Amino acid sequence: MSPPVRVLYLAGSGRSGSTLVTTVLGQYDGVFAAGELRYLWQRGELENRPCGCGRPLRDCPLWGEVRRELPTDRAAAIAAGLRGRLRMRGLPALLRRHRRGVRPVPAHPDDAALADLYAAVARHTGARVVVDSSKLPPYGALLGALPGIELRVLHLMRDPRATAFSWRRRRGLDGDTDPELMSRPPVWKAALLWLVWNTVTARLWADRAPTGYLRVRYEDLTADPEATLRRIAGFAGVDPDGGPFTGPATVRLTPTHSVAGNPSRHRTGPVPITADVQWRHDLSRWSYALVTALTAPGLRRLGYPWRRGVPAPAGAGRPARGGPAAAGGRSVGVGRAGSTGHEEG
Ligand SMILES: [Zn+2]
Repeated sequence: MSPPVRVLYLAGSGRSGSTLVTTVLGQYDGVFAAGELRYLWQRGELENRPCGCGRPLRDCPLWGEVRRELPTDRAAAIAAGLRGRLRMRGLPALLRRHRRGVRPVPAHPDDAALADLYAAVARHTGARVVVDSSKLPPYGALLGALPGIELRVLHLMRDPRATAFSWRRRRGLDGDTDPELMSRPPVWKAALLWLVWNTVTARLWADRAPTGYLRVRYEDLTADPEATLRRIAGFAGVDPDGGPFTGPATVRLTPTHSVAGNPSRHRTGPVPITADVQWRHDLSRWSYALVTALTAPGLRRLGYPWRRGVPAPAGAGRPARGGPAAAGGRSVGVGRAGSTGHEEG
């Protein structure tokens, strides 16, 4: 019997840097950046959307090998089954089962195909760690109960005012030319989703720290990218020295074979990692107040201030590290055009 597949599961709410972390981790030896594997069946198999390498998924040689071992003729049924099992309205029951110590997402006949997917990915890539950036906590809970999977949870989080702002941007699902847009929930909905998914992620896994759970804030990641990625690599059981850093905040990226995720996963070459703080200036006072009120139960607990921080004035010479406020100001070279796009996913 083969050893279990170690899956580094990126959990939490969206737009918190998971695509960036996945792509960077994919450059380490022994790591395969799989992307959002919960979408493999729908967006990959059925819609044949681009792999991280740029080819339509069904034309990618790597996924061709993996797919041969999967019941791809049942992709539509598996995708529909997942949607049904992972619905938000099932959350209270999921948490109740977790508290009772039973499997949070009940077993299902499709589970064999899901377990086979991760085993096949590990076999064909030779990876010791598979990074899955699906984020949705119920899917992570489902994975954690599958045979042959050793789950380690990386809880990525970001200031909810920033994520609410980011969700409102118009972005094509697979880049600017894609007519199908990424979802754009209103700020109130983005705020509630932030609260729900971050709370559920902590409830499900926080007690597994330090070996099974690590919480990382986007603000710390962008303030000190290399040190933060070293910490994540160590947590995943990967050599922290094997990363793609050419400077403390610059990485050299080669293509990955990630499924779904933010369009920035296609980015290659030298990429600077900087904080996207446009929301500090452009999020309206009303939206700021609304998101703050709706997420108040989690803000303090998760280390975010209620008041809008006063960003350092450009050129004031404050060290660019140490938390959300420290990364403020337009001087950090942030923008949508030409940015790493890591404000999302
Ligand atoms: Zn590919």
